[in-house]
Amino acid sequence: MAFDIDLIKKVYAEFEGKVNEARKLVNKPLTFTEKILYAHLTAPARRAYQRGADYVDFAPDRVAMQDATAQMALLQFMQAGRDKVAVPSTVHCDHLIMAQTGAAQDLAIAKKDSSEVFDFLASVSNKYGIGFWKPGAGIIHQVVLENYAFPGGMMIGTDSHTVNAGGLGMIAIGVGGADACDVMSGLPWELKMPKLIGVKLTGKLNGWAAPKDVILKVAGILTVKGGTGCIVEYFGEGAQALSCTGKGTICNMGAEIGATTSTFAYDDSMSRYLRATGREDVAAAADAVKTQLTADPEVYANPEQYFDQVIEIDLNELEPHLNGPFTPDLATPISKMKEAAAANEWPTKVEVGLIGSCTNSSYEDISRAVSLAKQVNEKGLKTKAEFTITPGSEQVRYTIERDGFLDTFASIGATVFANACGPCIGMWNRVGADKQEKNTIVHSFNRNFAKRADGNPNTYAFVASPELVTALAIAGDLTFNPITDTLVNEKGETVKLDPPSGEELPAKGFSVDDPGYQAPAADGSGIEVKVAPDSKRLQLLDPFPEWEGTDLKGLKLLIKAKGKCTTDHISMAGPWLKFRGHLDNISNNLLIGAVNYFNDKTDNVKNQLTGEYGPVPATQRAYKAAGIGTLIVGDENYGEGSSREHAAMEPRHLGARAVLVKSFARIHETNLKKQGMLALTFADKDDYDKIREDDTIDIIGLTAFAPDTPLSLVLHHKDGTSETITVNHSYNAQQIEWFKAGAALNIIRREFAN
Ligand code: SF4
Repeated sequence: MAFDIDLIKKVYAEFEGKVNEARKLVNKPLTFTEKILYAHLTAPARRAYQRGADYVDFAPDRVAMQDATAQMALLQFMQAGRDKVAVPSTVHCDHLIMAQTGAAQDLAIAKKDSSEVFDFLASVSNKYGIGFWKPGAGIIHQVVLENYAFPGGMMIGTDSHTVNAGGLGMIAIGVGGADACDVMSGLPWELKMPKLIGVKLTGKLNGWAAPKDVILKVAGILTVKGGTGCIVEYFGEGAQALSCTGKGTICNMGAEIGATTSTFAYDDSMSRYLRATGREDVAAAADAVKTQLTADPEVYANPEQYFDQVIEIDLNELEPHLNGPFTPDLATPISKMKEAAAANEWPTKVEVGLIGSCTNSSYEDISRAVSLAKQVNEKGLKTKAEFTITPGSEQVRYTIERDGFLDTFASIGATVFANACGPCIGMWNRVGADKQEKNTIVHSFNRNFAKRADGNPNTYAFVASPELVTALAIAGDLTFNPITDTLVNEKGETVKLDPPSGEELPAKGFSVDDPGYQAPAADGSGIEVKVAPDSKRLQLLDPFPEWEGTDLKGLKLLIKAKGKCTTDHISMAGPWLKFRGHLDNISNNLLIGAVNYFNDKTDNVKNQLTGEYGPVPATQRAYKAAGIGTLIVGDENYGEGSSREHAAMEPRHLGARAVLVKSFARIHETNLKKQGMLALTFADKDDYDKIREDDTIDIIGLTAFAPDTPLSLVLHHKDGTSETITVNHSYNAQQIEWFKAGAALNIIRREFAN
């Protein structure tokens, strides 16, 4: 599982020199974020890059992939013509394990049901020099934090919560599999130089407030779009007082504000965590350059001069929050929940409390939750709601079992699920969810879009810290404020919960018997990767066709999506996860969660060839069979959510040519470009209203497709009239080549073939 200390030492040896050069170019003190970015350019900078404008080539230190996205990433990498990955890379089997009965049984079933996929991932990893974390080893981001993240480093991962590693002072960014394929092939990784948001944390958390409440508060301030195109850097005395894993939680949910990533400067909490997780040599190496692993002193003294936006939060005053339902930025302080629930008619009976996941399963999190679980017995209470725990890694699970925490949870009737994503990604076989009853759950995960946890659109999911989730599960009441409210115990006595307490790190150190890691073969050239031609789960990829060299004319409108359209709406997870390695099969979920603007229904659009309404995938297949391209229209922040490139590959595979929206989420826009789709935005957002259900559309200007040059769309309405609207794009010269070649991968393949 070996992290590469030599690589880390090399990064540190070059760090100061690169930062000094960058400082001369930028001509002012640098934030920590800028230092990491400039230290990871593929070639020395010749000028200062303009934030929010310039595309820059980076050389990340690592790549991480989870099993659902790794399938497509590795299927693409297999086409790239390389013998071995160019940078240290790992695969983590965490998304394909259904939570149902409990860890042991659920894991055994998953290993059987998904053996074909796990075997494929293991053999590709073995062949190409990729570290493989077996099912049950843990959730990608927790395992990365425990084993690979290092201060000042840069990594990419095929999962939007890769950003979790910012808790250890990294720039860690979620990307699509095609980006991972580029970096594993030794090619530069391109990103628009992000803008910077500084969050100054003053004071110190106390009582019921937890690191999770910092990001829940920030999400309420910035909303799901507020961090788009930005890196968030946290600083201040409050930041230094947080544990390393608490910082990880805050960075993790930076994905929920659309931020490119978030990070913290190196401090003692990170040093302590590195040492506790067996990486004394990394801690020593970081300590030796610690003056480099933070912003220049002027920056935190006068943040307004150096960040594009600054937010200040006083941790002394921070209240526990509950964010939701249905969106992670609807932030309600616990003291306001009674009135908010009444005003919005949210169901207040808590049916299930779920703690853990990659966001909140540190030793500290679990120890604080257990301090409340202990009070159930001590105070004669009975837990009112169901309660579940999904540990983030086998190392955490083993350690909390050793320290008696799991026994305490068992004593209040808790179920421990496998060390995997489970309910967080809809892999939860929740009894009764199919009845679609209105109900409330609270969890310490990060996302709470409709249907995400259990597939029930009427499940109201609220996100909170693990300690608050535990308290609400004990009370069984969403409006219970543990700071002020009391409970009645089994004897009829009035009791009050004491505030949570815990330990940042285990006093006896972490322990683990089998961490679940499998190292790759030193020479994988003789290893054969097999994919059965009739497999339902895996399908080798065929290259997408090149652009035909003309404007795109005669496109039909496939769907005009209304309101929120996340990657869950475009390519649903849950039961569809099993097809993530089979492009044709998973394409049968294309946009089935998107709401059709014209009839307010999901998965019901007009087929202009027949005039009939039907499912989106079937309609799109009908257009494809007729040789007709299509246009998808969307609203604001289209493609928000995960990094899954299936949301871009499916429309491409089924013959859609362009996606036109009011605005894009960053990763999805890049994914569309990589797969040879046209990603366009309305120059005038009001033009969204001009798109009609029966429109036939021409995209004009492609023969002169150039950066910063808008294109035109001609809308031919059914009544014989037509209108022309202007659409923008953010393609640079290289991305235009991807479009022309049919996909970025087609260019890589060509380069390695020559
Ligand atoms: Fe897994 Fe949920 Fe974390 Fe994603 S956010 S990696 S689904 S636990």
